[in-house]
Amino acid sequence: MASKTALPTALPTELPTTTGAAVLTEHGKPLERQELPLPKEVEPGAALVRITCATLCGTDVHLWSGRMSLPDMLPMVLGHEMVGEVVAAGDGTVDTFGRAIAAGDRIGWSESTCGECRGCSVLREPVLCARRGYGFRQRADRPPYATGGLAEYCYVTPGAAKLILPADVPDGWAAMSGCAGKTVLRAVDRVGGIRPGSTVVVQGAGALGIVATAVAHISGAGMVITVGSPTGRLVTATRFGATAAVPLDLGVADRIARVYELTGGRGADYVFDFAGGPTVGEEAVAFAAQRGRIAVVGSTGPATSPVPLGTIMGKELTVAGSLNGDIADYHRAVEFFRTFGDRMPWDELLSEPVGLARATDSVRAMSRLDQIKAVVDPRLP
Ligand SMILES: [Zn+2]
Ligand SMILES: [Zn+2]
Repeated sequence: MASKTALPTALPTELPTTTGAAVLTEHGKPLERQELPLPKEVEPGAALVRITCATLCGTDVHLWSGRMSLPDMLPMVLGHEMVGEVVAAGDGTVDTFGRAIAAGDRIGWSESTCGECRGCSVLREPVLCARRGYGFRQRADRPPYATGGLAEYCYVTPGAAKLILPADVPDGWAAMSGCAGKTVLRAVDRVGGIRPGSTVVVQGAGALGIVATAVAHISGAGMVITVGSPTGRLVTATRFGATAAVPLDLGVADRIARVYELTGGRGADYVFDFAGGPTVGEEAVAFAAQRGRIAVVGSTGPATSPVPLGTIMGKELTVAGSLNGDIADYHRAVEFFRTFGDRMPWDELLSEPVGLARATDSVRAMSRLDQIKAVVDPRLP
């Protein structure tokens, strides 16, 4: 999918001291082209990377619009799904398998963790690290400045979990493994995997919902019902393994009735929330069959979505929250795309790559639902 127009291929002979970046300075406004400083030296364990592909996620769009907001977070560089080529690596920089990382390697990376908090040391779950660093969770006006994807160069901190990428996984797939892929695979793990022949409802037909639809299908689900909008997205979902699509414009009661009709009055063994929204909890519980399992993934942000606890009890449902993913999920996502590269038209999810100057257009296009996953190649003009 990568455009092949006159990209610089040779790595710079001298380390760059600054990087061009598309910086979010004000919600809803065009990203501002800025030149950010880069660290003078690459610390032990760190790497300086030239970004070759950044894909945008719904979270980037929500952070841009202000629908999702973190305290004291601006200015920031959006983008937490990206891959790049190592320009320089610090002493002893290795990937998650202990392989030495050197200039010229193509890597992706996941969160950085502190190793000391309860999430790290007791729960041993990187996503629960109290000081988790993750792409956009870093201001652009404080060292190390450039850790987001919408920049020419990115500083990958010593604590960030890194992965040398297999050569046969294209940049776009490796990039979307960085959030969409790993988030879906973790959610499937959190419900104990998908039993062959089972029935799955996926709430949401964005990138995550469509990837989840595909994962459910490839995992052997007997029926995958994708609930979402607009119609074009549902058509895409059917190309990615949905056996039925339920449009949002049906209304809550009719959506529930439709799922029951499709499942012979039984409901779904698994329900995945990749949508969020005020009725998603009520619907998830209604869609679920007795002993069904629900993964809550899309309900980010402060808005609430009431859940009838009596139904959870009465059907003996299991509800699991699932938060993004860690380097293990990232590795599995890369391997998933590698293994099942020819099973789905994955590149249909990805838009034509644009340079940083057009990144704002891409964010706007995603917010209008005109693109499923925008692709930015900062090497393009
Ligand atoms: Zn920690
Ligand atoms: Zn994301």
